[in-house]
Amino acid sequence: MANDFPIKQKLMKKKIIIIGGGITGCMAALYIDKKKFDVSIYESKNNLGGVLSDFSYNEDSFLNGVQYLDINTKWYSEIKKLFKGKLNEFSHDYGSITESENSLLFTNKFAVPSFTNVKPNLLNKTIKKSLNSRITLYPKKIANFLNLYLKKFNISSKRISWDQACLLHIGRVTILDELKKLKKFKKQNKIMDDIYAIEKKNFLNDQIFNAALPKKGYNNFFDNLCKILKKKKIKIYLKSKIKPLWVDGRLFLTKDDKQSFSADYIIWTGNPTHLIKETLNEKIDSFPIRIVQYSANIEKKVDNFYAQIFSTKSNFLRFFSYQLNNKNKISVESIYDRNENNIKDKINTLLKNINFNYQLTDEKIFKNLSVRFNIVTKRDEKIFNELKRKTLNTNLICGPWDIYARNDKILYLKNIIFNLV
Ligand SMILES: Cc1cc2nc3c(=O)[nH]c(=O)nc-3n(C[C@H](O)[C@H](O)[C@H](O)COP(=O)(O)OP(=O)(O)OC[C@H]3O[C@@H](n4cnc5c(N)ncnc54)[C@H](O)[C@@H]3O)c2cc1C
Repeated sequence: MANDFPIKQKLMKKKIIIIGGGITGCMAALYIDKKKFDVSIYESKNNLGGVLSDFSYNEDSFLNGVQYLDINTKWYSEIKKLFKGKLNEFSHDYGSITESENSLLFTNKFAVPSFTNVKPNLLNKTIKKSLNSRITLYPKKIANFLNLYLKKFNISSKRISWDQACLLHIGRVTILDELKKLKKFKKQNKIMDDIYAIEKKNFLNDQIFNAALPKKGYNNFFDNLCKILKKKKIKIYLKSKIKPLWVDGRLFLTKDDKQSFSADYIIWTGNPTHLIKETLNEKIDSFPIRIVQYSANIEKKVDNFYAQIFSTKSNFLRFFSYQLNNKNKISVESIYDRNENNIKDKINTLLKNINFNYQLTDEKIFKNLSVRFNIVTKRDEKIFNELKRKTLNTNLICGPWDIYARNDKILYLKNIIFNLV
């Protein structure tokens, strides 16, 4: 009799399946109460990590994008407890280049498009609509620049939602010779606060820019996280691309088109394209942006630094320097252009422009191509909301697909998970 209770408890456990083994799926798995739920993760790739996965070339690896972890968040402190000594914490610098045909402005105080010689106008309240409507709020000089800059991505700002400005790193802009006025306007008006940046240390006195990276890179981090999750009795199925299937209002899943299976709850963090097709017979918009990242190991000891590049002249988008596996590294992200040439010279010009005291000579440049689809249109936002509404009382828990920031995605699911019974 004494042993009956645990067996009964085991039998009563509800089943949760998580689709997608990126950071959102892994954190969701950690948050679920394993005494109440039996948890599995299905991941289509042969490793966990999603977009955080590093680019690896034999023994060498490079970050895929800047990918700093924000150490001021609750989820980071939870992860830190599991990764004692394996995370490198640092305060970092950043900057930006704003470049048009006849001007180049570098600042090491802002990572947003930065201007001078332009007067901000105080605006009244406005309705948040498209990215285009957001851009029209700026003085003409700034709006014209942003529109030209967006042409690089081949996207129509009328179709893109207001919030996507953050993903494109143009959530705010600044005017370097009008910071006092901007500070005043930001206090007076919510919209001004939303669209303009002033130096953070003026704004929030004790804000410290602290971040972290796994010392041995994200691939090693996720290999370890995989072991940790398994120890917590979370089942992990790699190389498992899942397709959705609705049967009588209940979501089922198939893997390799074999027999379907289901769970009390299915948390879908991965790409929702198939799910939306299967549920609403709709196709989401996609703006594939082909990105090439150039990376190199360099001799100079580097600090963690990144610079956003807002240029209407070059394809470059972002520069970053960092340490991984005790090696000093730089990477430059760029819009892919098959005719791009003289890349080493162009990177060297960039290094000069951002006052990075180094020039590449014989270093090998590693090149990695990726396609990013993560821009959400206004139409997609409606589709996501319709999907959530239509599946509200089913076993599907929709992922935070229209949220960009990692911290917000994790928090969104955490709140849902804590209310599961
Ligand atoms: C280059 C880059 C830089 C970024 N920088 C920042 C930043 O500095 N700060 C910030 O807050 N955010 C940043 N983001 C956004 C942030 O990284 C993401 O919001 C977050 O890391 C995404 O994690 P995720 O787990 O939600 O999704 P993903 O990492 O995309 O993981 C989803 C996983 O689901 C799997 N999957 C998809 N479909 C299926 C299926 N049908 N079956 C099984 N598995 C499936 C995929 O293989 C993938 O592993 C950045 C994003 C990119 C691309």
